[in-house]
Order: sequence, then C-alpha cells, then structure tokens
Amino acid sequence: MNIIIFGPPGAGKGTQAKFLIDKLKSYQISTGDMLREEIKKETEIGKKIINNMNDGKFVDDHIVNSLLEKIVFDKKKNNRLIFDGYPRTLSQAKNLENLLNKSNQKLDFIFFLNVNKDSILKRIEKRKILEKRSDDDAITILNRYDTYMKITKPVLDYYSKNKNFHEIDGSMEIKKISQKIQQILNL
Ligand code: AMP
Repeated sequence: MNIIIFGPPGAGKGTQAKFLIDKLKSYQISTGDMLREEIKKETEIGKKIINNMNDGKFVDDHIVNSLLEKIVFDKKKNNRLIFDGYPRTLSQAKNLENLLNKSNQKLDFIFFLNVNKDSILKRIEKRKILEKRSDDDAITILNRYDTYMKITKPVLDYYSKNKNFHEIDGSMEIKKISQKIQQILNL
C-alpha cells in the first residue's frame, strides 16, 4: 500500500507516518529528513539547498524529484511507501505519478491533515524545543506555513478530486487522528 500524508508543516504528518510504518511495515519517505541529511553531510546538494531551507522556502523541484527516484524504484520498498512532505508542488505530484506508473505501483490513499495556523504554531514551538530544529524560529514558521498554503493549493485541488482522498481534522488529538486513519484503511 502506498500512502501520501499531506498537510501544512506541524500538522502531524511525521507522527502519523511513523504510526503507519509500524502498522503496515512500510517505509517513511520524508523529503524534509532527506534534505536535512544532505545539509548535515555537507554534500553538493546540501550546499545548494541550505539557504532555502533556512528561510523556510521550498527546495527546487528538480533536486527533490531526483532524491525520490531511487526510493520509488527500490524493490524492497515496493508498495510500502508512506510519503510525508512530498509532493508539495504540482510538478512533484506529476513526477510521483510518473515514477509510480513506471514501477507498476499506484497511490492507494491520500490523507490531508487539515489544521489552522494557530494550532500549527503551538505545535511547531513544542517541536522546536524537543528536536532543536534550527529552521523553526517564529518567522520561519510563518513563512513555511504561508508558502505551503500558497504553493500546495493546486496540489490539494489536484488530489481532492481523487476517490482515495480523505480529509481529516488535524487539530484532533494524535490518537484520534491515528484511529480515523486506521478506520479508513480498514486495519
Ligand atoms: P519538512 O520536514 O517536511 O517540514 O520540510 C522542511 C523543509 O524542507 C521545508 O520547509 C522545505 O524547505 C524543504 N522541503 C521538504 N520537502 C520538500 C519538498 N517536497 N519540496 C520542496 N521543499 C521541501
């Protein structure tokens, strides 16, 4: 089963992705984690993306798409992909569709965790303390939220027509959200 967890930063995508990888013995594909790793390892990609990441801006589609390719074609991960933070643009959504087609896979479920700005700010502040994420200062948080809402709107419109699309109230307790997802997946 391949699943996209979609929603603004701080909506709890990572938490629900972790819940699902446990339940489904799948793999969490977090482009945010992959990009942070490139910066940490000081790779060529890392050097190119550090400014955008720190400013809360999106990383170039070509860079993110290229990181995805290896993963989608990895036999071990076939039909066990839980996408967290990807796709974020229409170009990424189309790239994903293309890669899945080429590898004889499909998208089984798309979950949109919908949550308002106030709840997001509170959650990200908490995460900042717990995980010491350097890009999470207050201005960056707002930038990330606004960028997300602006750029991902077409992606949301694109997926919301899909019969596998499910909108979930992301301001509910973590456990409630997991239960809702579990119910939809019939687990
Ligand atoms: P995240 O951990 O998913 O909140 O992502 C942290 C940051 O990584 C974002 O603010 C972007 O700068 C970058 N990023 C992560 N995923 C993507 C993506 N799919 N497309 C573009 N930029 C991304």
